[in-house]
Amino acid sequence: MKYSTFLIKYAEIAIKGKNRYVFEDALMHRMKLALGHVEGDFAISKTQGRMFVDCNSDYDFDEVIAALGRVFGINTICPVVKTEKVDFEKLCADVVAYVKEEYPEQKGTFKVFARRADKSFPVHSTEMNCELGAAILDAYPQMKVDVHKPEIELNVEVREDVYIYSRQIPGPGGMPVGTGGKALLLLSGGIDSPVAGYMIAKRGVKIDAVYFHAPPYTSERAKQKVIDLARLVAKYTGTICLHVINFTDIQLAIYEKCPHDELTIIMRRYMMRIAEHIAKENDCLGLITGESIGQVASQTMQSLAVTNEVCTLPVFRPLIGFDKQEIIEISEKINTFETSILPYEDCCTIFVAKHPVTKPKLEVIQKSERKLSDCIDELVASALETDEVINVI
Ligand code: ATP
Ligand code: MG
Repeated sequence: MKYSTFLIKYAEIAIKGKNRYVFEDALMHRMKLALGHVEGDFAISKTQGRMFVDCNSDYDFDEVIAALGRVFGINTICPVVKTEKVDFEKLCADVVAYVKEEYPEQKGTFKVFARRADKSFPVHSTEMNCELGAAILDAYPQMKVDVHKPEIELNVEVREDVYIYSRQIPGPGGMPVGTGGKALLLLSGGIDSPVAGYMIAKRGVKIDAVYFHAPPYTSERAKQKVIDLARLVAKYTGTICLHVINFTDIQLAIYEKCPHDELTIIMRRYMMRIAEHIAKENDCLGLITGESIGQVASQTMQSLAVTNEVCTLPVFRPLIGFDKQEIIEISEKINTFETSILPYEDCCTIFVAKHPVTKPKLEVIQKSERKLSDCIDELVASALETDEVINVI
């Protein structure tokens, strides 16, 4: 079947009242960017709560569906056959021809949903439903009408042209990226943080990212893995501005001066402090992490409270109530899993204590951090100077 057009349905953004055009424009922009990676000539337009992608050249169907399937804000993608609006007789013939091509066996139950957006068309929608249904039954007597649970929902929309479609491919839902401000994702090479970034971006938030690496304790390959993950997430979020911060000296100082069972928690507090600094400099309204309650020692309720204490920006933890298996399922769906499980070490695993505290007390941690007071401001300032910015597309 050759589809000339894709009809794009969007649900949630349709209810945004006066701001609706902001959401629609953002969605069109995101669709344009996504289709920019697909070979072919595509024109995007909108009318009356509907968006259309017209294909003005040859294109690969699966590639278009995959690209649009990653644009947040799209609820349904309908491959459409567009025909010229002449008269009702021609419309009947077109619909019958559509059924023949789309359903070569011409079997099963169906229902016609006709819509008359162009009120000057002389046949009303209820009449169209009956007449088109009759024409199909005439042409294909083995098909049956079922108005309650049809196997085939045959949509016929009369606008400036006639649009015929029956396939409805689910989109990712959510809101168009950029309509919800920007946040900074703490992106490690693990399974969780790429999923966390995906989930917040799905709500319309643009994503910047920061990765703390600790050469020579972490390798170039570990850094490349994070860049690769950012690239996979960027397929959904659009370009990600990734900050790579050299964290080695801070880690060594903590390792040297603080109790080893508190290493992870103190290190996490410095990551959050630096991330917050970068976020504020780059107009990010919050931080995002891949933390989930109880997953590891640094993610108990007590540890999360102590980590959170250094932040003034909101910290978004979209995976907080998720089991690992649920997170893995999303990472498989968004294609980050295989990259995440590559074995390159990240800086947390090298400086990790055998028995980290699981119920840290804020005063105790603050007291340990005071042991860093003679050097830490300078180390944080130097770490910020190492900021390497990579635009990941
Ligand atoms: P992930 O799978 O995302 O690495 P994790 O289960 O390994 O998470 P931790 O290592 O405790 O958990 O990290 C918790 C969160 O802190 C991560 O989800 C991520 O947001 C952030 N984080 C950890 N290490 C780094 C790092 N090296 N650079 C940037 N962010 C990090
Ligand atoms: Mg990790």
